[in-house]
Amino acid sequence: MSESIEIKINGQELLLSAGTRVRDVLEQHCPEWLKTSVGVSLNDEPLDFQMALHSNGELTPLEPRGNASSMALEMCRHTTSHVLAQAVKELFNDVQVGIGPPTADGFYYDFLREDPFTPEDLKAIEKRMRKLIKTNQTLERLEMPKEEAEMIFAEKGEDLKVELVRDKGGDQVSCYQQGNFIDFCTGPHLPHTGKIPVIKLLHTAAAHWRPKSGREDSPMMQRIYGTAFFSGEDLKTFLDHREEAKKRDHRRLGIDLDLFHFDEKAGPGMAYWHPKGGTIRHQIEAFLCDEQLSRGYDIVYTPHIARKHLWETSGHYDYYKENMFTLDVDEQEYVLKPMNCPGHILIYQKGTRSYRELPLRYSEFGTVYRNELSGVLHGMLRVRGFTQDDAHIFCRPDQIQEEVSGALDLALHVMKTFGYDEYRIDLSLHDPSNRDKYAGDEDQWGLAESALADALDSMGLVYERQLNEAAFYGPKIDFHLIDALGRAWQGSTIQLDFNLPERFNLTYAGDDGYQHRTAMIHRAIYGSLERFVGGLIEHYGGAFPLWLAPVQVVVLPIADRHIKYAEDIAEAAEKAGLRAEVDRRSGKLGAKIRDAQTQKLPFMLIVGDRDMENQEVSVRHRTVGDLGSLTIETFLAQAVRDIEDRAVREWPLRENDTAPAA
Ligand SMILES: [Zn+2]
Ligand SMILES: [Zn+2]
Repeated sequence: MSESIEIKINGQELLLSAGTRVRDVLEQHCPEWLKTSVGVSLNDEPLDFQMALHSNGELTPLEPRGNASSMALEMCRHTTSHVLAQAVKELFNDVQVGIGPPTADGFYYDFLREDPFTPEDLKAIEKRMRKLIKTNQTLERLEMPKEEAEMIFAEKGEDLKVELVRDKGGDQVSCYQQGNFIDFCTGPHLPHTGKIPVIKLLHTAAAHWRPKSGREDSPMMQRIYGTAFFSGEDLKTFLDHREEAKKRDHRRLGIDLDLFHFDEKAGPGMAYWHPKGGTIRHQIEAFLCDEQLSRGYDIVYTPHIARKHLWETSGHYDYYKENMFTLDVDEQEYVLKPMNCPGHILIYQKGTRSYRELPLRYSEFGTVYRNELSGVLHGMLRVRGFTQDDAHIFCRPDQIQEEVSGALDLALHVMKTFGYDEYRIDLSLHDPSNRDKYAGDEDQWGLAESALADALDSMGLVYERQLNEAAFYGPKIDFHLIDALGRAWQGSTIQLDFNLPERFNLTYAGDDGYQHRTAMIHRAIYGSLERFVGGLIEHYGGAFPLWLAPVQVVVLPIADRHIKYAEDIAEAAEKAGLRAEVDRRSGKLGAKIRDAQTQKLPFMLIVGDRDMENQEVSVRHRTVGDLGSLTIETFLAQAVRDIEDRAVREWPLRENDTAPAA
């Protein structure tokens, strides 16, 4: 037991016996840290002062500052969740506590209770938490045999904790106690509640108890979300951001802007695109379709259902069955396609392929159906029916790098067009020490992975290698788009596949006259149209750039006598290719402008007596406001050029303008 460990601290090197407490080391060698820091880190692991040291390394202080991912803030948020549970136990009877981890934005704690907590409850709980925080309660770490912990929680009637200790605890477990509240937890925590800075409870939700435990009678818990920051300013920025995200929520804007709806009666997780949403989607599809045609892609169409046999060959029937919708046709089992790949393979296989005709690039806006659990459905982001801009590239192994480069170039062009200037790229690789997990042989993997990396490198792209994150069938490149609020969205994906070419025996005749294994690349630029448009709605806050706006121009006659002139203007705009409307309703101009603003229409063309007289229009832009009088020809020339450029910037159309925040 008297094993020793080497610890560096503040420039000193110490030889300590394993199991020495952090506090003891600090008291001797760095007592000021006990005051200025909230804990320490050892080899990037956060530790609190009561924990024991078991490995070599350097101790650094965790100071109470920093944001988001800082270990100190995470410790602080986690400790606050204990205080939340303590406050709830003090204020409410008949409540059992569940778990309370930190999250990316704060923390939550789950409680077993019949009724949801009301907003008034949250206020009372928050008030009690502040009171508890002020009393500087120590969080005392208690280490004990598992049975003892089970007994403690059983006596308190905390059956869920007993279950957790039983399932998760080793022979010895740790609990933390502040005041009369005790929790089963590995830590680390702040030394005392007085170190908790600014807190805020946010909202409630229902959540199942341990959903992954497979228990069928898993009770429903009442979850309370909260957050904590080191400064009031950080909290304010967070809350402002949160408010803005709510305003941009695509589910809300989808309804407000009349873009789409989900119809519970017709079935959850399936979007009904209204004319305005349909217009946006059509522009997005047409843009990519043209790009693909100019880049040597072919367009194919494949049926929505196919006999089970096809899915047995592809392997989906074995490992993807619970996500597939099946149907009976002529007493045979058919599958509603969850993927487009097998369909494209059937087209490739129709005919003998020679090395000369490769690569073949088959593209389809393919609608697929996947049986997602109803609990995970979320607006346009998780749905049961969606359309992928799916393409499969069949090529020779020596063409992989060039094909991947081509797909990367297309992805970059598309992101730029939609104004996603920031993105992250992951290159997911296999783990040679985990061979059983992956299809294909080591040579194939080596060749494909270096082809992907070379393609990225040759284009000067920065990416992160993710070891052991590849799909079982091949390595892949994933883009994560960063939106206007700094949030990441799933973007383009380019994936190699060693599995399907084997399963379907895909070959081509080489210049040596022999048959060779075809290489296959799955590639989606938007991914799912539903998710992509959902993301765009939030990225733009509903204010689509001119080329995408469902109504680009609305003409507002000031009085009835201007309606005829307004119609002429709208007609001229339509002739120039714009989507134009006339607001013929009687009523105040101010109200019409407000409506157009609310609908986030890019341009309002206001026409009154003077405009008619001068054969002009008074141009108003949704973000810039009044732009003065122009002839309709001048306005249209500018607008048409902007549409053709698919400009994301707002008016005025100076060169090198960047878009102001919408
Ligand atoms: Zn804890
Ligand atoms: Zn595919």
